[in-house]
Amino acid sequence: MKQPERLHNEWETTDFLMAQRRLERVAAWMKLDPNTIEPLRHPKRSLSVVVPARMDDGTVKTFMAYRVHHDLALGPGKGGVRFHSGVSLGEVAAMAMLMTWKCALMNLPFGGAHGGIRLDPAKLSSSELERITRRYASEIIDLIGPAEDIPGPDLNTNEQTMAWIMDTYSVNCGHTVPSVVTGKPQSIGGSLGLLQSTGFGVAYCARRAAQFANVTSGSPTVVVQGLGNVGSVVARSLHEPGFTVIGVSDVTGGLYDSQGLDVPKLRAHVDSKGSIQGYKEAQVVSNDQLLELECDILMPCAVANQIRADNAHKLKCRIVVEGANAPTTPEADAVLDERGIVVVPDILANASGVTDGYFEWVQGLMRLFWTEKEVYSRLTELMSKACDRVFEVSTKSKVSLRTAAMSLALARVVEARRLRGLYP
Ligand code: NAD
Repeated sequence: MKQPERLHNEWETTDFLMAQRRLERVAAWMKLDPNTIEPLRHPKRSLSVVVPARMDDGTVKTFMAYRVHHDLALGPGKGGVRFHSGVSLGEVAAMAMLMTWKCALMNLPFGGAHGGIRLDPAKLSSSELERITRRYASEIIDLIGPAEDIPGPDLNTNEQTMAWIMDTYSVNCGHTVPSVVTGKPQSIGGSLGLLQSTGFGVAYCARRAAQFANVTSGSPTVVVQGLGNVGSVVARSLHEPGFTVIGVSDVTGGLYDSQGLDVPKLRAHVDSKGSIQGYKEAQVVSNDQLLELECDILMPCAVANQIRADNAHKLKCRIVVEGANAPTTPEADAVLDERGIVVVPDILANASGVTDGYFEWVQGLMRLFWTEKEVYSRLTELMSKACDRVFEVSTKSKVSLRTAAMSLALARVVEARRLRGLYP
């Protein structure tokens, strides 16, 4: 009998299919029953909305926007809101799946979610962004909430964005609901340390990975792609204890100094000029050249799909620490694995961001706030345990850190789904 033609789901873009392929590979390695993972191959629910907003000149424009829940077996959804001209349902669904694994790996009581609006924030005023954000929040209001789905900041969104979402949600509820978002300003319930926590955790993973990969140099050389919220903290956090940061880049290009860049001086330049452009005390390189610099640790902390099949064989590093989400494609994974390059996967490397988001959610529910010391001490403890678990599985089973991390995360989600059962 002729098989019915398989329906093509609208989220099945390249980004999503890559995330799906990673899941299928790990499930096959774990010898999981395909029936077990079938629901996890797709998002649980997705909402596409057209957000209308009045521009400053009086015209009305519309923006495509999304919120996706991938799996909620472990708790409410947790994931960022991204503002970018490349936002699509597939990208958001892929990120939501990634968040499921990240939260599960860290033993957080959250499922995976993500959202975004397709726009270029550089072309919009602050008041236009506020109107778009508030309308987006009201369009997705049935999906979000402290017990349903808790958005946080991601690319091009920040504390102010989260404050607008929290206010819009609270106005609709008739009372203040701080735990509907994380990454808020401290004055309205934000956690201490949140702004720095992702970079702090990425740098922590770099130090652990250097020990794991037996990098014996007292001052390992580091290249950081992207100098935003994550990359700038990474560069500083590794420079201070004596790592040699020899290369950095932002969207305008890269800088290289084999003897090590003066990170505080460069930071001051970026703070005053807005980018690395015009910094005279280092050699200018392109972003492609930057990725191919000889170094101990390469840290992609910018955007997705930077290490691909076409450049993975050119990398001259011993370790890759994925500060960004999905900077390496599955095809590149295979090349790096074969070349013996240790890759600390995104779901571990940048998981301290969502972990600190979890702390903020807990503090908001309790209305009891921790000191910065408490936040960092709890964060270090959870990151340390997660690294221990992943390194142990990788060593025992002789698999990449990504396979080890994904298998731990998937096992936890599968167990939760098994115990809860399939309703009805
Ligand atoms: P950001 O917008 O603050 O910074 C991004 C940086 O990357 C900027 O310096 C930008 O100039 C640079 N960049 C952009 N496109 C580039 C390109 N093509 N080549 C080189 N550099 C480029 O973003 P962020 O918050 O630092 O996030 C960076 C990455 O980390 C993203 O993938 C994000 O999803 C991930 N992440 C962030 C957090 C967080 O807490 N901010 C948490 C988890 C994961």
